[in-house]
Parts: sequence; structure tokens; C-alpha cells
Amino acid sequence: MSIESCGVCGGDGRIANSFSGSTATCPGCHGTGRRSDDALFRDVTKTKPSHYRQANKPAAVEKPSGPATFEGTQLAKEVSECPNLSSGTKAKLTLEIVEHEATHGKCTQTFIKKVRKQLRAAGS
Ligand SMILES: [Zn+2]
Repeated sequence: MSIESCGVCGGDGRIANSFSGSTATCPGCHGTGRRSDDALFRDVTKTKPSHYRQANKPAAVEKPSGPATFEGTQLAKEVSECPNLSSGTKAKLTLEIVEHEATHGKCTQTFIKKVRKQLRAAGS
């Protein structure tokens, strides 16, 4: 709170007179120990930042639970319908599809082939 303290007296509101040993009311803050100008400024602006943040609060971005593209959806369907994959492997592959889409913006043919190769390997 040193910023709010009066710079003249350091927040005491009084200034010691080193010669007489007595104290006098601080002329900078009139005995309050605070920088009145700053305090006023703070009060005026105090509520504005929170209003600003609330009005501009970004909508919660929900993480997609599944693929977003047609190819990704198809591929995830093939994964889920593969009878020889464990549910853990299916979940892992589906997650790979989602993450691949997030990185590349779509399912590349190379990636689709790679996943289908895994499906065939599991089926054999
Ligand atoms: Zn002062």
C-alpha cells in the first residue's frame, strides 16, 4: 500500500521536526497519510475494469468430444465399429483423430490411411 501513502510524510500524516522534537500535520495529505488525489482517482475507476472484463468475457470454448470433419467422423466410426480393438485403443485412436484435426484442420489422406492400416492390423 506504499503507493497510496502520502509521499511527503510516508503515510504517517505527520512530519517530525528533528530540531524541536515535535510533530506537525503533513501539508501534503493534511494528516490523513494518504495521497488524496490518487485515492479519488482509484475510487472513480475502481468498478470499471470488472465491468469491462465481464462484458468482454470470452465464451467458454468447449473442447470437442469427437471429430469435427466428415472424414474424421467417418474414420472414428470405422474405429468404433472395429470388432478387434479394445475400448481403450478405440478411445486412443479417436483422440488421435480429434487431435490430428485440431493440428491440421482436417484429416489428411496419409493420416486416414495410417489409421485404417491399424484397423486392418487389428482385424487380421
Ligand atoms: Zn502526508
